[in-house]
Amino acid sequence: MINCIVFDMDDTLYDEQDYYKSGFATVSRIIAKDFELADRKVFDCLWQIFNCGNRTNTFDAAAEKLGVVLDAGYIQKLVGIFRSHQPDINLPSDSKAVLENLKGRYKLGLITDGYLPAQQLKVKALGIEKYFDSIIYTETLGRENWKPAPAGFKKLLTELDLPADQCVYIGDNLEKDFLSPNQMGFKTIRVIRKGRIHFGPAPSAQAGPSYEVSSITEVINLLREIDAV
Ligand SMILES: [Mg+2]
Repeated sequence: MINCIVFDMDDTLYDEQDYYKSGFATVSRIIAKDFELADRKVFDCLWQIFNCGNRTNTFDAAAEKLGVVLDAGYIQKLVGIFRSHQPDINLPSDSKAVLENLKGRYKLGLITDGYLPAQQLKVKALGIEKYFDSIIYTETLGRENWKPAPAGFKKLLTELDLPADQCVYIGDNLEKDFLSPNQMGFKTIRVIRKGRIHFGPAPSAQAGPSYEVSSITEVINLLREIDAV
């Protein structure tokens, strides 16, 4: 019997690339103003570097391409602004329909990795707080407890007072989402969004999901099937 559906947020409920676009637009305006460049030129440069797979030194690489010097302190400031900006992101209609369908029929949870306050600002911007009985920001448990660590999943089960075998976890990222819930006894579903930004393989057979769907809408029928087993 399934009593609880737990979601990941980024690239599960919305396209994470929209968050990066929003953050890059914010910092582009600052860089453009400080170095007398066109906003669009700076944004296009950051976006191109990010899309080529540079997710860790995006600002350094952009500085080189734009021919400006961004020292470590300035980049640190940009990172801070990025992580604390008000994101211009929306909950897609299919995700909204799924959450509304499930709300009331199941307990709902959210477990999300990443920096605070960025994750909290995303939750607010998406307007999803109201759907969940428990929201776990793994950052509040210490960075060592970001997924794939089991701590966030354990905390959620404690808060909702449910055993893992009554829960389904829905995520996207093969590298970190499914290992712990699999080991704990959750059923796991991977949503493969077209615009996703993580493509890494599962590090082990145990880290793969129980089920895969190509759109979040399919989750509704799949949950019926899982519950009937
Ligand atoms: Mg994710």
